[in-house]
Amino acid sequence: MIRIGHAPLARRDFETDQDVRWCPGCGDFAVLAQVQKLLPTLGIPRENFAFVSGIGCSSRFPYYMQTYGMHTIHGRAPAIACGLKLSRPELSVWVVTGDGDALAIGGNHFIHAMRRNVGIKVILLNNRIYGLTKGQASPTTPFGTASKTTPLGSIDRPFDPAAIALAAGATFVARTVDADQAHLAEVLRRAALHEGTAFVEVYQNCVTFNDGAFDFLTDRATRAEAQLRLEDGKPLVFGAARDKGIRFTGAAPEVIPLGDGRHTEADCAVHDERAEGPGTAFLLSQLVAPAFPVPLGVFRAVQAPCYEALDAHLNEVARAKSGPGRLDQLLAGGNSWVIAAEGAKDG
Ligand code: SF4
Ligand code: MG
Repeated sequence: MIRIGHAPLARRDFETDQDVRWCPGCGDFAVLAQVQKLLPTLGIPRENFAFVSGIGCSSRFPYYMQTYGMHTIHGRAPAIACGLKLSRPELSVWVVTGDGDALAIGGNHFIHAMRRNVGIKVILLNNRIYGLTKGQASPTTPFGTASKTTPLGSIDRPFDPAAIALAAGATFVARTVDADQAHLAEVLRRAALHEGTAFVEVYQNCVTFNDGAFDFLTDRATRAEAQLRLEDGKPLVFGAARDKGIRFTGAAPEVIPLGDGRHTEADCAVHDERAEGPGTAFLLSQLVAPAFPVPLGVFRAVQAPCYEALDAHLNEVARAKSGPGRLDQLLAGGNSWVIAAEGAKDG
């Protein structure tokens, strides 16, 4: 990418001199590497990137990006990122969060960011555990998992982040995994190019407190049977020999054998990431192991007006109608009042 008057940006331009304080082998490293590789390809000046995070291991991300950024309040990164994007729509604003940060204390902010279609990119590193606070069950910890806070097994049914984002109306929803660098890179690239809220869930291995949680998806021996790669316009086929498919009867999914003389790829559901409603994408998000292969890829990618554009239009309408406005007049206007000091007598 040639920038007039500047040398082209490279990955090293987005690296900082900070010691990266994740455990050796943590899946976060893979995401950091792919983001640092992606940004120089986007044709955006470095000073126009901002990374916003909440609290957790993944939320150290802004320290390691040579961009503007804020390590903010637990669960509140989406709200701060939305405010930044509304006030500075020319910026490329990214949120990096985790399963605890985004879906427990930050659940409310998360769903509203998803529904509004503000042009922010949200990367949720899902390790299905609280890492920074050393191994408590999180909102995505599978049922029955023993952890520091659930020594006899979790009795909470876990959230599925992609399903929540889809149910909230997100216009771009994808899932990938840290161990597959090529897939991770492609999904992040698609998210970066999306106009509106782009949500990417990354299955991320926490080597210290939940090691191996996604081995079934990434091990060479099992991954072909365990993954369902979503490709727009392609039938839902999986397996090392591409000998299984998914079809839906109404809302009920079913694994069908292919090449058995009864079924062919033509019997499988065809993935349509641009389907008007989120219904089919939501059904895909309900496919869980071990009964079904786990979908990886883009569930949904549709266009809708961005919140910041709608907001700018409303501001124009208001200015045309009432003039530029003044903050002091607003604060002292007809919808404000004075509370008398304690002990003061009514007029
Ligand atoms: Fe990564 Fe887990 Fe270590 Fe946190 S505790 S840095 S998520 S390996
Ligand atoms: Mg976590």
